Amino acid sequence: MSALQNQCMTMPPNLSGMMSRLIETPSISSVCSKHDMSNRPVIDLLAGWLDELGYTISTQQVDQDKANLIATLSTGDDGLVLAGHTDTVPFDEGRWHFDPFKLTESDGRLYGLGTSDMKCFLAIAIEAARQFTARDLQKPLTILATADEESSMHGAKALSQSKQRLGRYCVIGEPTNLKPVRQHKGIFMESIRLRGRSGHSSNPRLGNSALEGMHAVVEELIAYRGELGARFHNPAFDVPVPTLNLGYIHGGDNPNRICGECELHIDLRALPGMNNDELRDRLRHRIGNIAKRLGLECEFQILFEGAPAMDTPADSPVVELSEQLTGHKSGAVAFGTEGPYLNAMGTDTVILGPGDIAQAHQPDEYLALDRIQPMIELLKSLIIKICC
Ligand SMILES: [Zn+2]
Repeated sequence: MSALQNQCMTMPPNLSGMMSRLIETPSISSVCSKHDMSNRPVIDLLAGWLDELGYTISTQQVDQDKANLIATLSTGDDGLVLAGHTDTVPFDEGRWHFDPFKLTESDGRLYGLGTSDMKCFLAIAIEAARQFTARDLQKPLTILATADEESSMHGAKALSQSKQRLGRYCVIGEPTNLKPVRQHKGIFMESIRLRGRSGHSSNPRLGNSALEGMHAVVEELIAYRGELGARFHNPAFDVPVPTLNLGYIHGGDNPNRICGECELHIDLRALPGMNNDELRDRLRHRIGNIAKRLGLECEFQILFEGAPAMDTPADSPVVELSEQLTGHKSGAVAFGTEGPYLNAMGTDTVILGPGDIAQAHQPDEYLALDRIQPMIELLKSLIIKICC
């Protein structure tokens, strides 16, 4: 008898079946249309199961072919939300030793695309939730399954635009090794393009070099990064300061021509308490001034509009409860989540899931079998404490 079958005998029935069906149903999201898929088949599966369990089902159209699922047991907006994204990242064909779209048990692990990040959590949440009926609940229990977390955050953004609060507290089961997380950095990405005038390289007066202008812009960005690092510091993070990375640069075409155009791509990762819109405005203002001084045209383009930093209060009951139940103090992580969008709607959110971020977005992604039962117990305790 395999370890998975063994586990199934102690696991409530149907959990491994739910996980298998979710992994077998591809739902890749990508900014590259070649890889991008609908998440509807996953939403339909979840909706079918939760409908059978007596949940009120509503789907929210996000983009064409994309949707969020909101399934609620009992009524009101002051209960608990168990949330996860339905999409996965694309995978490296040929680098997997297992079929990414088949749940395979081996060495005490479940392999498949989305096992850790994070379709299996949705099955685990349903498994924990199915132990309760509407009669057990004083406050509503909601299962939220979102679209496009890995690509655009459009699911979370659609939700926050609807301004419909789904609960007072939320647990998002992103991979955190069963340890609660209440903080992460924000991020945005920007393109900066300078346009000067090309000309024969033998006489600098025949043109205006965009590349030399970009040199001044790079100096300004590094100075700005230094100022941000001196002003903002948070020791909860491995990298305790905001970061600004110069990730791509291209300019010019030939050594004997003055460079007419130069483009730079950057990302900026902000700490909690910093605002993406203000940072972007400040950055554009400073660079715009340099371009003006040098007589260069300057054009900004948003490469990624951005996701805010997350900062759930340390004394929020859902944070304190998660710390008590896991025995771990809540921490900060380097990756972004949908948490800040829920926080902004008045739903205090903790990131707490069974997977490991080290396995996410990797070939042979897996979830360790021994994480499953503790996660179910954790969610059941949270449901009891918050909803019953
Ligand atoms: Zn994820």
